[in-house]
Amino acid sequence: MAKQGYDYLFKILLIGDSGVGKTCILCRFADDSFNSSFISTIGIDFKMKTIELNGKKIKLQIWDTAGQERFFTITSTYYRGAMGIMLVYDVTDQKSFDSIGKWLRNIDENANEDVVKMIIGNKCDMEDKRGVETERGEEVAKNHGIPFLETSAKTNVNVTRAFHDMALRILEKQPDKKPEMPNINPSKPFNVHTPSSNYGISYKPNCC
Ligand code: GDP
Ligand code: MG
Repeated sequence: MAKQGYDYLFKILLIGDSGVGKTCILCRFADDSFNSSFISTIGIDFKMKTIELNGKKIKLQIWDTAGQERFFTITSTYYRGAMGIMLVYDVTDQKSFDSIGKWLRNIDENANEDVVKMIIGNKCDMEDKRGVETERGEEVAKNHGIPFLETSAKTNVNVTRAFHDMALRILEKQPDKKPEMPNINPSKPFNVHTPSSNYGISYKPNCC
């Protein structure tokens, strides 16, 4: 492990329409808390959480908007250095689902080309108010080759899984550390990366 107490630092962003639950997802993951009041105007910069994956300590720096998404004024500064982006919609809010294309274009215009994206359908605890079926979320994600999960920040469904999956996908993109043994077989180089096997294939959510 490195001196600073972690092996990797990954910057992850939350993006999506106002009210979809971005701040609640972050609070659930970082503090295991849930606030039922609408807190989007307060805004925070980021929260940190260190997780362990494949024997590596990974510090996640997760950025939340300060309400700029309401006016679609997310600037390139927010995207700078982002390694992963969670694009969140609300399964009870068709409009937020319709915004996915708009947000993906915004991401393409501002973020690094190789940023890891994930589509999240939040509030899957509200089955009686659902307006966007799981299959439609899966289809849009599949069409864009992006992994998909439904979550609930309220009842704590798939939130940890989403961040761990995101971190794993970013981890896979990191250049390999120096091998401890010299490479004695030149036909088998060490730095071969295999792409994520289930890229573009959505998960069946645990709820909903
Ligand atoms: P943001 O604008 O995207 O950051 O949305 P917030 O995190 O502020 O959440 C907006 C509203 O949705 C708040 O009233 C939250 O309590 C509620 N909310 C967020 N996540 C969930 C969820 O998973 N389930 C339910 N039922 N409500 C949620
Ligand atoms: Mg918010």
